[in-house]
Amino acid sequence: MPSEAAGLVSLVGAGPGDPGLLTVRGREVLERADLVLYDGLVNPELLTLARGRCERTARVVQDGSRRIDQAEVNRRLIEAGRQGLRVCRLKGGDPYIFGRGSEEAAALQAAGVPFEVVPGVTAATASGAYAGFSLTHRDIASAVALVTGHERPGKPASMLDWPALAAFPGTLVFYMGLPRLPAIAERLVAAGKPPTTPAAVVSHASLPTQRVLAGTLATLAQQAANETLQAPTLIVVGECVQLREQLAWYERLPLFGLSIGVCRAEHQAGDAVRTIAGRGGRGVVVPMLAIAPPDDWDDFDGTLRNRLDGFDAVALTSSNAVAALAARLEVLALDARVFAGCRLACVGPATADALRALGLQADLIAAVPGGAALAEELVSAGARAVWFPKAEAASPDLPAHLRAAGVTVHETIAYRSHPVTELPDEVLADLDWVALTSSQIAETFAAALADRRSPRLAAISENVAAAAKRAGLQVDAVAETAGWPSLLDAIAAAR
Ligand code: SAH
Repeated sequence: MPSEAAGLVSLVGAGPGDPGLLTVRGREVLERADLVLYDGLVNPELLTLARGRCERTARVVQDGSRRIDQAEVNRRLIEAGRQGLRVCRLKGGDPYIFGRGSEEAAALQAAGVPFEVVPGVTAATASGAYAGFSLTHRDIASAVALVTGHERPGKPASMLDWPALAAFPGTLVFYMGLPRLPAIAERLVAAGKPPTTPAAVVSHASLPTQRVLAGTLATLAQQAANETLQAPTLIVVGECVQLREQLAWYERLPLFGLSIGVCRAEHQAGDAVRTIAGRGGRGVVVPMLAIAPPDDWDDFDGTLRNRLDGFDAVALTSSNAVAALAARLEVLALDARVFAGCRLACVGPATADALRALGLQADLIAAVPGGAALAEELVSAGARAVWFPKAEAASPDLPAHLRAAGVTVHETIAYRSHPVTELPDEVLADLDWVALTSSQIAETFAAALADRRSPRLAAISENVAAAAKRAGLQVDAVAETAGWPSLLDAIAAAR
């Protein structure tokens, strides 16, 4: 009998690696789950979407071979389902393609725990798309076969019919096959497949670390033996491998293969990480600043409660200040109408974007980055009394310039940021580039780096580059205009 409290277990395909390849339904399930049980192929970046507890399913070592203790996973799923939890069982690729998802589903069914299955992009189709093979191109393949290269240990005879595979009228894709590549190639050739048949190994398909070795059935095993290829890998056999010369787009992206440090707090790094991924690189969050609230909100809240009485402009020099405005308006049950009598002035496009997310348009955006330029804009717009909700350690430029021009400025602390100088060796070793987006970040990075070897460095502006140089760093690329797109262009140009 299903228990009253039975929750729902969703078997979700996480896709092959690129986190963007999770389905919309998969994302919904992942976000809402109380418990996420994920396997070793799942890209850990996806777990940042989850709000519930995340546990990796255990791998146990037995007889020298690693294997997943499936019975234990099944028990865990049943138990969590019976507790009434919403469980997301997240599995690499598609849950049913060489994924043992159907064994989990059968165990849930037998235990009376409700389940659903959300398919995922399997490694074969992902490697086709990202490495540039059209697996079923109509001129060269009328079928595609997904084949296991790793048969269950202890199985008496091979279940694979090699003559049938050799005669198969299309593309063969072997999962889990790299260790047995020489045997696979030999058996296909022995069974009559021409040794000149194009074949490839794809490692880390759809990830910035993707590598493709292309050759023929006669050459591929030797090519692979000369390289260290990281698991997971697929073997693709068929004429379609040759289409790669035309169709490989991913490896041609400007940041392909680069791992770029994004020195922001996790919750603020998402946009940059996505922009980097869109250009073929990997954004690695390296928090160099922690954001904390001010000691008290008295002055900040008082100003909002008074509906900015006495001010004719608000100066905003960071999206953190905008976030503080949003959060306090919410707490005080107020809304954007408090700004009715004020101009909103932003230091740059990113701050203006943050404001737009609240449904507010900036009246002024400084033409060049920096407090001085923003002060000038405010003065020429006729501002007389400016509220400046700011970082505790904000540069004094803006208020100094305003006061010099006879404008009244009221400064209120909206947030504090303190440097995080931990930079573990393994994180550092993983970075090809680090993006420095403020002078404070440049200084903090220099302190955290200490006397270790630096990755290449890119600065978001000449000012930040100068601060980095003062801190003893060598800068290899500088953005032409402030903002991530230009910063990433500079990295691509200097790679
Ligand atoms: N359910 C998964 C497959 C699990 S079996 C899916 O649908 O893709 C594990 C095998 O999948 C690996 O040995 C490898 O052959 C393949 N694989 C998974 N992700 C891969 C990737 N990003 N690149 C290449 N092969 C991958």
